[in-house]
Amino acid sequence: MHEMSIAVAMVEQVTETPAADGCQAVSAVRLRLGELAGVVAGSLRFCFSLACAGTVLEGAELLIEHVPGRARCEPCGAEWATGMPPQLCCPQCEGGKAELVSGRELQITGLRHADGADGGGAAHHASVQVKES
Ligand SMILES: [Zn+2]
Repeated sequence: MHEMSIAVAMVEQVTETPAADGCQAVSAVRLRLGELAGVVAGSLRFCFSLACAGTVLEGAELLIEHVPGRARCEPCGAEWATGMPPQLCCPQCEGGKAELVSGRELQITGLRHADGADGGGAAHHASVQVKES
């Protein structure tokens, strides 16, 4: 399953990140997920919870920030939402030289550590790139 391998890669990337301030448990992981990344959010969420078991991420919440797919036409400069399946033909000049501006994101943008010391959740930011396999 595609989502499972992504979830496992995410957990590996996070657990390989040195914990800041000695915080170990991670309570939430923020992920930017592009509309065109080919990942089903619900499925990824489920796989993520499985992949987290037995790690510092156990019980962590996956906070998904959806990024809509957008394309831009080189010759005429038009920009539009691609939708899914993506429309890559320019609606303005009907040219076929569209370039994807966004929508392929699959990136961890932050971690929230469970911080027992002050009772609150301290936010630490880490930028981890999930490699697409
Ligand atoms: Zn165009």
